[in-house]
Order: sequence, then C-alpha cells, then structure tokens
Amino acid sequence: MKKKILLTRRLHEFALKQLRKKFDVTIHSGKIPMPKNSLMSKIAKVDGLICFPYDIIDKQVIDAAKNLKTICTYSVGYDHIDIEYAKKKKIKIGYTPDVLTDATADLSIILMLDLMRRVTEGDRIIRQGKWKEIYGAYDYVGTEIAGKTLGILGMGRIGTQMAKRAKAFGMNVIFHNRKKKSSRLGKYCSYDQLLRQSDVLSIHVPYTKQTHEMINLSKMKKMKKTSFIVNTARGKIIKESDLIFALKKKIIAGAALDVFKSEPIGKTNPLTKMNNVVLAPHIGSSTDETREKMAEITVKNIKLGIEGKNPIYSVK
Ligand code: NAP
Repeated sequence: MKKKILLTRRLHEFALKQLRKKFDVTIHSGKIPMPKNSLMSKIAKVDGLICFPYDIIDKQVIDAAKNLKTICTYSVGYDHIDIEYAKKKKIKIGYTPDVLTDATADLSIILMLDLMRRVTEGDRIIRQGKWKEIYGAYDYVGTEIAGKTLGILGMGRIGTQMAKRAKAFGMNVIFHNRKKKSSRLGKYCSYDQLLRQSDVLSIHVPYTKQTHEMINLSKMKKMKKTSFIVNTARGKIIKESDLIFALKKKIIAGAALDVFKSEPIGKTNPLTKMNNVVLAPHIGSSTDETREKMAEITVKNIKLGIEGKNPIYSVK
C-alpha cells in the first residue's frame, strides 16, 4: 500500500510525477489557502503534508492528523506551522532554505533601488498621462545609493546576500542579529544603532514571537527622517498601521514592501495610495529556477520525512 500525502496546492509536473510514483497523492484544488475544515478532514488520513506559507498548521490541524509523519513546507519561513507542537508529536518538518536566498536578496535590492530612484513612481506618472513637462534640475529627484548606510536586520542567509549586493553599489553595511558575529561585509551593531544609523533598513529576520511588530512607531521615530524601510521577510514584523502613520507624517521617507500584515492587499490599503511606497505581491522567491529547486527539495524532504528520517532541510 502506498503512503498517502496531501498537497495544499499544485507543484510542478515533474515533482508531481515523482511524488505519484511513490505516494498516493491528493492535491487540493479550489480556494487558496485551503479552508481549515477541509484541511482538517483531509489531513486525518495522510502520512505526509506538503504545505505553503499561507496554510496555518496549528495545534488543531496537527491534532486532526492521525498518521502524520512529516510536514514539508514549500518555503524557508515556517512561522505558519506550530513547530513546537509538531515536534512534540514527533512529526518531521522539512523546509526549503538556501535555494531561494539569491532570488529573495535580488528582490530586496531591486525594491531598494526602485524606491530610492523612484522608478515605479515614474512608471505610474507616465502611465497615468501625468508626464506633461520635461523635468528640471530639481524636479523628480531620487536618492543616491553609493555612500549610504544599509542596515540589515537579520544577517542570515538572505541578509548576507543583500549585504553583498549593496557593497557592489558602494553602500556601507551595518547589521544586527541576536548573536553578535563578525562579517567582512559590514559591522555588527546594536538594534538601537541600526535604527539610528541606517539610511535604508532592510528586514531579513524570520517572523517569531520576538520579531512580531519589532518595527513600530517608537522604533521608526529613532530612524532618520530621510531613511527608507525595505521588507521582504514577513509583514507582521512591522506594525503596519504605525508604518502608514510614519509615512504620512514623514517620520521616515519611504518603504518598499513584498510582504504585508494580511495578504493579498487590495486597493483600499492606504499603502497603495502613497507615492513614497513600492509594493510587490510577495514574490521574493518567484523565479522559475528557484521555484523548481524548491520543488525538488520538497520532494526529497517528504520522501525522507515519511520514513521517519530527517528531511534534507529539516527544522530542528
Ligand atoms: P536565516 O538564515 O535564518 O536568517 C535570519 C537571521 O535573523 C539570522 O541571522 C538570525 O540571527 C536573525 N534573527 C532571528 N531572530 C532575530 C531577532 N529577534 N532579532 C535580530 N535578529 C534575529 O533566514 P533566511 O533564509 O535569511 O530567511 C529570512 C526570512 O526571510 C525567512 O524567515 C522568511 O520569512 C523570509 N523570506 C521571505 C521571502 C519572500 O517571498 N518575501 C522569501 C524567502 C524568505 P540570530 O539567530 O543570531 O538572531
């Protein structure tokens, strides 16, 4: 008898082919994320789950599972899974770090450059037919990149690659982690110094109880009025209502965001009305190459996890 697995969404055909060779595969189709009641009824019967960042795998969902050996998420972030509870239940957790580092660091640098040089803002001006006159010497100017200080919050895999890219643009790099460490790319500093000294603050910490709304109004008030925030990590690391307030009141100069408190965001979100904001629809890892690698790893992870072994990339 083949072991049963549930996918909350489709994966690439090559991955599905490999999975079907080994497992009895159920793929949720329809509403994304999978509605909780449907997830709870389907998970009851399977040995393995492949999920995505929008699927909330909490205690209730884990308790609904009767035979579950492994949960493999198609992401590096695993804040949507109750890891401690899953571990207690001896469920192996797989995830997909490393392979998405470059793609996400690329997007972080793209958003930063776009924000500072006002590219998307200009695109909007042209598309809306508002480019009526040739700009003069002082009109529509951006901010120089070279010589500015980039502050990295979370100098891990993606933070380090962001730092490397920023160095190539002539930026100075400072960074903060919980554990002090040295890096040839920049200087370690306290969180307070990071806030006060950065011209651009780029967020690369995971979303945890500790990082929940780690950037709020009191923190933004410590930042330079000319500074920018870039967030490709998780939306809830910033208190979004405070960010909107800070942008309106010019407490900081702008923000570039790939992630939000609640996704997807729509036109009613005040961020969509601000010219000093660049928005992306959570596409940090969205390249063909990266997504294929994530699928390859997910297949390997679940094969191992179902056998009770540690996935190749295992949350410990
Ligand atoms: P990582 O290698 O684990 O790096 C995270 C870094 O954050 C570590 O250096 C860690 O160092 C630091 N950190 C953790 N908690 C902290 C805290 N409370 N205060 C200060 N520093 C803290 O993770 P990664 O692979 O770079 O990924 C980072 C995050 O990016 C993921 O968790 C995910 O949520 C997000 N992401 C988003 C997308 C997207 O599509 N937008 C794509 C990929 C990843 P210490 O342990 O020393 O503190």
